Amino acid sequence: AESHKTFKIAMERASEAGSAAVSTFARTKSIKEQREYLPAFACRSQLTKVIRENQIVVIVGETGSGKTTQLTQYLHEEGYSKVGAIGCTQPRRVAAMSVAKRVSDEMGCKLGAEVGYAIRFEDCTSPSTVIKYMTDGVLLRESLRDPDVDNYSAIIIDEAHERSLQTDVLLGLLRRIAARRRDLKLIITSATMNAEKFSEFFGGVPIFTIPGRTFKVEVLYSKNPCEDYVEAAVKQALSIHLAQPVGDILIFMTGQEDIQATCDCIKERLLSIKEASPLSVLPIYSQLPADLQAKIFERSSQGHRKCIIATNIAETSLTVDGIRYVIDTGYCKVKVFNPRIGMDALQIFPISQAASNQRAGRAGRTGPGSCYRLYTESAYRHEFFANNVPEIQRTNLSNVVLLLKSLGVGDLLKFDFLDPPPTDTLLSSMHQLWVLDAIDDNGSLTSIGSNMVEFPLDPPLSKMLLAAIKEKCTEEVVTIVSMLSVPSVFYRPKERAEESDIAREKFFVPESDHLTLLNVYKMWRSHGSNDKWCEQNFVQPKAMRKASEVRSQLLDIMKQQKIDTLSAGVQWDRVRKCIAAAYVHKAGRLKSIGEYFNIRTGMPCHLHPTSALYGLGYTPEYVVYHELVMTSKEYMQCVTAVSPEWLAESCPMFYSLRITNFRKDGMETKTISMTKAPRPEIVPAATARDSVDKK
Ligand code: ADP
Ligand code: MG
Repeated sequence: AESHKTFKIAMERASEAGSAAVSTFARTKSIKEQREYLPAFACRSQLTKVIRENQIVVIVGETGSGKTTQLTQYLHEEGYSKVGAIGCTQPRRVAAMSVAKRVSDEMGCKLGAEVGYAIRFEDCTSPSTVIKYMTDGVLLRESLRDPDVDNYSAIIIDEAHERSLQTDVLLGLLRRIAARRRDLKLIITSATMNAEKFSEFFGGVPIFTIPGRTFKVEVLYSKNPCEDYVEAAVKQALSIHLAQPVGDILIFMTGQEDIQATCDCIKERLLSIKEASPLSVLPIYSQLPADLQAKIFERSSQGHRKCIIATNIAETSLTVDGIRYVIDTGYCKVKVFNPRIGMDALQIFPISQAASNQRAGRAGRTGPGSCYRLYTESAYRHEFFANNVPEIQRTNLSNVVLLLKSLGVGDLLKFDFLDPPPTDTLLSSMHQLWVLDAIDDNGSLTSIGSNMVEFPLDPPLSKMLLAAIKEKCTEEVVTIVSMLSVPSVFYRPKERAEESDIAREKFFVPESDHLTLLNVYKMWRSHGSNDKWCEQNFVQPKAMRKASEVRSQLLDIMKQQKIDTLSAGVQWDRVRKCIAAAYVHKAGRLKSIGEYFNIRTGMPCHLHPTSALYGLGYTPEYVVYHELVMTSKEYMQCVTAVSPEWLAESCPMFYSLRITNFRKDGMETKTISMTKAPRPEIVPAATARDSVDKK
């Protein structure tokens, strides 16, 4: 710690009982006592009063003060649930599930009974559910069916400070809904940032602050910028574990891979340190299976220190008690949309100062703590933004645009956005929808567009499903879409990489990764959906079961939509045609072996070594891909070989077919070229400098 410079972060009420006593609190106290210890409980009557007297209230409170778990129960206990459900939205699926579980425990009921949750493709509620936690996306979709959200007597938009895309859109919608439905209680909750902004947005509504209970956190900076944050975090964690008093450790990492690497590394090094006491090393990130996620809340047995390695999910949406040491890499992974190339990419960015302070605060929840920042004080002061950039200003909006269009919002530029998205991004998203035939030249929803909205899928995937109606292969396409909606089904443990690669290759359909996924699903089914079979073939049984669930939900929607399930039999070309129709904007043309470029943007894109198309001596001239991931290069993920005719047929506004005769053998070659197309009229002509003509 000598290489660190210290300074103190703001402190309040540090006089409470000693930290060790408090960290055993949850173990020794009843659930009722735990509830009554929360800061929200101390001001419960003022809280319920301000809610009773105002239609809309902004509630601010430190993380862990009881906003998420208590407010819903207070409203329920005050009787609001007699006239309608109490809904609480979360930007993250993990939080919705874990909080619902906690609240059902607190209320002593089964999860899914009085207290339930709903996330995309998973509805754990019943007719008796009165408190419903859900992702913001779920409520947004519910508003399609029920524009006044009449099911609810109260809605809590939780974690509003996160400024997730769907939350921002909900805020805009709810402002209108609240004006129509005077009986609806609307509560916006936020960690300590942005409260005035929310209050102003709703016309100057009251802000209620839950008095905090935080302890002193000593902040230590790294003297020099660190080269390898995984390595630095591992070292720091071990040095804390070996030398510092009791208290759990929380490491903020960027994403799943770094988290896994950190976990592995810590465990490995611990083995070589003889005198080390046991340490439970626990990862948490959104794709982690729920039972493993729950482990972070479990009390480790006597003497075991916990080390939790998390994404920014642990910044505000999940609170783990007993954390005394925070290690902050200073980075997070965010999805950023580049309107020029029309693509979302996950990139690692420095966090904001607000996020950095939030992270540090995690160490001072139940007693004084320390935060080790793996960056310099100068980086914090001069390189970090003050606040996070709202998602709406950095991601692809096509899904949201489609949704708003079907809610009858004609002019998106006039929608009540808390912060409007950049016009470029809006245009680019409109353009993508237009290419998919979801909106017409005037920017109005087409019949394809309104059918697409029915599916809780990204526009290209719902387009693929709709294309399958015409090609009579919905049976196959619904499987592919389901497989694309779950985390990777292939299991590739580092120590058995070669073996698992060989197993995966057995499923390969040489012209398509999509068809390979279909193949895996069919094989899994034909082996009785058997876990043993999965294990032998390096397939993730959980992902397969999830895909099967998603599939049956999509089939339900198709049934409601009167879409028949038809099979292409062995004519898998028909399936590929639908795949081509879904990804017309993500079509690549061969440059050299393994190397393609996006026909529209010219962006280079490479076949990934794990693709079925790789190394089989099969290098098709044209491909489409599901997404582009940037690692060492731009890699296409999930690729299918397509014929240029299909592209031209699905998207005449982009591609026109040209027959050229330059082969020596006189055979004709077909190529496609970009068409100079009219563009959809989406905004006043002056701002509509569009992207169609840009190559
Ligand atoms: P806020 O929303 O204000 O950040 P919460 O309502 O999420 O606060 O948390 C209040 C308390 O409930 C915290 O002290 C936390 O430890 C506890 N808690 C929340 N979720 C769980 C869980 N899944 N398991 C155990 N305790 C939990
Ligand atoms: Mg919360």
